[in-house]
Amino acid sequence: MSPDPTQPPMHGDPGTRGHVTVVGAGIVGVSCAAFLQRAGFQVTIVDRLEPGFGTSFGNAGSVSPSAILPVAMPGMLRKVPGWLLDPLGPLTIRWRYLPVVTPWLLRFLRHANRDEAMRVATAMRALMEPVFDDYAEILDPETFDRLIRRNGCLYVYESREELAAAGWSLDLRRRLGARMEEIGGDDIRQLEPALNRRFDIGIFAPENGRTVDPHLLVRAIADRVRAGGGSVIRADVRDVEIGPDGPRALLTDTGRLSVERLVLAAGAWSAPLARKLGAKVPLETQRGYHVTFADPGIDVRRTVMWNTRSVFVNPMDCGLRIAGTVELAGLSAPPDHARSDKLARIAVEMFPDLDTGGASNWMGHRPCLPDSLPVIDRSPRFANTVLAFGHQHVGICSGGPTGRHVASLMAGDTPRIDLSPFSASRF
Ligand SMILES: Cc1cc2nc3c(=O)[nH]c(=O)nc-3n(C[C@H](O)[C@H](O)[C@H](O)COP(=O)(O)OP(=O)(O)OC[C@H]3O[C@@H](n4cnc5c(N)ncnc54)[C@H](O)[C@@H]3O)c2cc1C
Repeated sequence: MSPDPTQPPMHGDPGTRGHVTVVGAGIVGVSCAAFLQRAGFQVTIVDRLEPGFGTSFGNAGSVSPSAILPVAMPGMLRKVPGWLLDPLGPLTIRWRYLPVVTPWLLRFLRHANRDEAMRVATAMRALMEPVFDDYAEILDPETFDRLIRRNGCLYVYESREELAAAGWSLDLRRRLGARMEEIGGDDIRQLEPALNRRFDIGIFAPENGRTVDPHLLVRAIADRVRAGGGSVIRADVRDVEIGPDGPRALLTDTGRLSVERLVLAAGAWSAPLARKLGAKVPLETQRGYHVTFADPGIDVRRTVMWNTRSVFVNPMDCGLRIAGTVELAGLSAPPDHARSDKLARIAVEMFPDLDTGGASNWMGHRPCLPDSLPVIDRSPRFANTVLAFGHQHVGICSGGPTGRHVASLMAGDTPRIDLSPFSASRF
């Protein structure tokens, strides 16, 4: 008789260190499952969707170990009114949601200073620096080469004043070891001939890269977990049953699922379950949009970021994708695809010869904590539980490394980096 996948194996099964159930099959959850499996645990992933259909589905796909800046940057407070008034601006708030989000927003803005930026960037650099090595460890080499490219990323500016405005944040990244090389218009056109000639100054970050399909990246890791004996279950987790030693079952729409050890990696939806698991966290969704042009008719070779507009453009297998904007409107409001239309207009500003036919839209929920750091920690209450969520704008850049540290925490090993900035008790 084959084992029942809804039941964890007994402790001490040969070749295992026990069984771990991971809630969430986004990039963070599947990376946790893959590293846990490599560490000798049996794993079951539970998600109400197929792997990779949450926020990890439609992001910009940038894999950048230098994307370490917090979302709340020094000077942001001054810029917010202008952003809200600019129809192409990077931030919008649904007015009906304003009373709900205001306490979070005030907390978020309290982090918008240089000391905090330095602290957050230092922690994020330690987390994300090995991102390519970490994905290489949980993907087979062929899949890694097919899905991940490391040919640098380009930040573009229209004037020296714009670049100067980014000067402090560039220096910060350089001080933390990121390679950020200033280049002129000729070099920009050599790297990206399709870009508008208005971009005369750029920063080339050669250590950065991208995935050509973030959804496939998640699926490939999940498939490898399955091939290694793990299982993936479709179920909506409604509650957690707590026993004398911590969580002992998930209560789902398809029934009760026993658990021995638990990882919570449910992205922007993690807060209610985290609370049940002993961590009260101020998790908010920063909604973002993408437009993908199926047949763009131009040659774009790497991730290009237009800083002033806060958008990323990335050539993918499915076409050319532009992604960005932050919308504060909560988890349940329907998408406002006027945001996507704005992105499409920005894409044409960047690439005047872009063919905008065959465009598709998408909205996703970035899981954001006010200090821009994820939670990667044991539950403050239960020894058999690890929490891993809140990867804001950089879950693809930090999902693989998070998986490694979650496996270390679960195994009782000393993690390779100081995880105290990612504490679940810091709020
Ligand atoms: C427009 C946009 C562009 C972005 N660009 C980039 C980029 O270029 N690079 C980068 O690194 N990051 C980027 N991000 C951020 C990145 O996409 C996220 O940080 C990342 O996807 C979060 O991964 P996750 O696994 O935590 O969450 P998700 O991918 O959302 O996974 C969480 C999963 O948990 C499941 N779940 C939740 N609650 C339950 C429950 N109760 N029961 C069962 N299942 C549950 C969900 O169904 C979901 O599948 C971008 C985001 C957006 C929106």
